[in-house]
Formats: sequence, C-alpha cells, structure tokens
Amino acid sequence: LMKMGTMATINQEISFDIAALVCSEFGFTLMRSDNSEIEELEIEALMEIEEDDEKDLVPRPPVVTVMGHVDHGKTSLLDAIRDTDVISGEAGGITQHIGASEVKINGQKIVFLDTPGHEAFTSMRARGAQVTDIAILVVAADDGIMPQTIEAINHAKAADVPLIIAINKIDKPGANPDRVKQELSEQGLLVEDWGGDVISVEVSAKKRINIENLLEMVLLVAEIQELKANPNKRAVGTVIEAELDKNRGPVATVLVQGGTLSVGDPIVAGVASGKVRAMINYKGKRIKQAGPSTAVEILGLSEVPAGGDQFAETPNDKTARLIAEKRQAMQREEMLKASSKISLDDLFAQM
Ligand code: GDP
Ligand code: MG
Repeated sequence: LMKMGTMATINQEISFDIAALVCSEFGFTLMRSDNSEIEELEIEALMEIEEDDEKDLVPRPPVVTVMGHVDHGKTSLLDAIRDTDVISGEAGGITQHIGASEVKINGQKIVFLDTPGHEAFTSMRARGAQVTDIAILVVAADDGIMPQTIEAINHAKAADVPLIIAINKIDKPGANPDRVKQELSEQGLLVEDWGGDVISVEVSAKKRINIENLLEMVLLVAEIQELKANPNKRAVGTVIEAELDKNRGPVATVLVQGGTLSVGDPIVAGVASGKVRAMINYKGKRIKQAGPSTAVEILGLSEVPAGGDQFAETPNDKTARLIAEKRQAMQREEMLKASSKISLDDLFAQM
C-alpha cells in the first residue's frame, strides 16, 4: 500500500479501487458485492413483468406433491391416482412420463408432481420457488410415523402448505390407523375424527381403496385456498426437472404458474434461453398452449436449466438471450469468487 502511495494502518479503510489493485497483485479478483443486486434489477426490468389485476384472475387447479417415509407407498399412490383417470375413461394408458401428471375428478383437474416431496420442497424452496399448493403425507398404517414422516411434516409447515394425511396400506393385516392418528397427534397434527382439523383418509394404494375419496379431499382443501391465476399474460413458472436428451437436446418439464405458454414463445429459464419448439403434456401428446397449473415438457432451450429455476416468457427473442447471458456471466462470477475463496483458504492452510 505504501509503495502505491497509500499510507494506511491496519484499521484504516481503503477505497475499493485500491483494494482491487492489491488483490490483483496476489492473483485475486475483487468484485463489488452489490453487483448481483444491480444485475437482478436489470434483469427484472428486461423481463417487463406484468402485474396481475384482481379482475384478471381466474380459478386454477391445485398442484399437489406426495411426501412420506421411504416404502410407505408414495409411488404406489401416484400410480393408483393415475389409474383413477383410466376408470373414468379419461386416459387410455399413459405412456410418456414427464415428471408430472394430471387427473380429473368430478370434472375438476388436479396436477400431481412426481418429484419426491422432499426434493420439491428443499431444493425448490432453497431457490425461492413455491410450486405446491397441497401436500399429501403418506403414512403406512403398519409402520406409523418414521423419521422422514416428521421431516415431511416440518417441510410442509415451514412452507405453509396444507397437509392431507393418506393412511396407506390399510389392506394389510398389521394395519393400525388409530396408532397412526395417535402418533400424528404427538406431532401436533390432530385429525378430524379426533376432534382436530387435519384431514385424513384411510387408503390402500395397492388395492385401490378410497383413492377417489382422497382426491375429493384435495379438491375440498383447494376450494378453501381459492387458487387463482391470470392466464392472459406472458407465461411464468418453475422448472420441475430438466435433462439433456441425446436426441431431443435440452428437455425441461416446467409448471406454468401464470399466463399462457405457447409454441413459438421466446423464454428464459435460469441460464437457458430459447424459443419453445414443442410442448408435450403428461399424456405424451403435443400441445400448442399451456395455461396456469399445467405441467409440460418443453423443447427448444439452449441448455439444461436446473430444477427450481424460474422460467418466463419474454417480450422477444433478444431479451431472452440477453437475460440468459447476464445470468451466465453472474454464475461465472460466483464460481470465480468461490474458487478464489477456496484458494485463499488453501493458502492459509499452507502457512
Ligand atoms: P415409496 O418408497 O414411498 O414410493 O413406496 P412404494 O410405492 O415403492 O411402496 C413400497 C412397498 O409397499 C411396495 O412393495 C408396494 O407394493 C407396497 N405398498 C404400497 N402401497 C401399498 C398398499 O396400499 N398395500 C400394501 N399391502 N402394500 C403397499
Ligand atoms: Mg417411490
């Protein structure tokens, strides 16, 4: 510092530029910590986010995740739920798997996310994304409350998402639903027939018992929530999962949460951008438009976004590209920061 003409003692403040110079002498790049905030604001401006007016809002279907301890029947329950549509003559054997599915009960749609509830909550909430309206907590009647059951309860509480309890495997000889209810009460969840307000349904995913009843309860809870969205604006939503398909390129399953996404729309999803080349629904059918509470697989992105990334339709192609580039630059900066931090620690470790 003195060689550079700055007479500083150990407790003295120095300017950013001087600090940056000193850092570069030692092979580090110093960056202003408020950079990313400024960039975020710039990105927001580029997006031209459209605010919703109360009068633009229309009811939308609920988005549901299934949570619970391993082997308590999450996958089986989702299978059973999908089958209810077959019974009603809606679907004719679902072939394609897009990480989400829709069922119709009493003419009303419910969207189910296949991502295990824990992931949907932790990774997505960590990134500020809220995708679920209702969580179904599966508890095996022959096993009761287990560590992951408690975890799931805590996740749902933290996210302020209502729980519906599915007491599963009631077909088994060792099933004891009352014990489950007792254990639930110890977790602060008092079910309705015990005088509480937590809805519970005794089901068998395997024997397909009470599945429709469970779905009706989902609709009941959804009705209380008065879920609404504006379908008449540029689409916004969240990436549920994404991967690189060797034939189709980057493929992302997204949940449209507001607006309407159409084939040909320019979009940005995390660090990826592009034009929607094709949209495939949960039945594996190509569709042209997807409104609020619709999960679709989209093709046409430049790269693979991350689960939990927000996506947005942009006013034009150029904006989508620009935002993605800005985010990529920010990501590189972050990585650089992280790696220089590591080397600094290494340096100290060697001293
Ligand atoms: P997950 O780990 O929570 O997804 O649980 P799975 O759906 O994979 O189910 C774990 C095991 O429990 C499998 O062997 C299922 O066949 C069985 N299972 C699931 N639901 C029921 C049920 O309602 N009754 C009986 N008897 N077995 C079930
Ligand atoms: Mg499973």
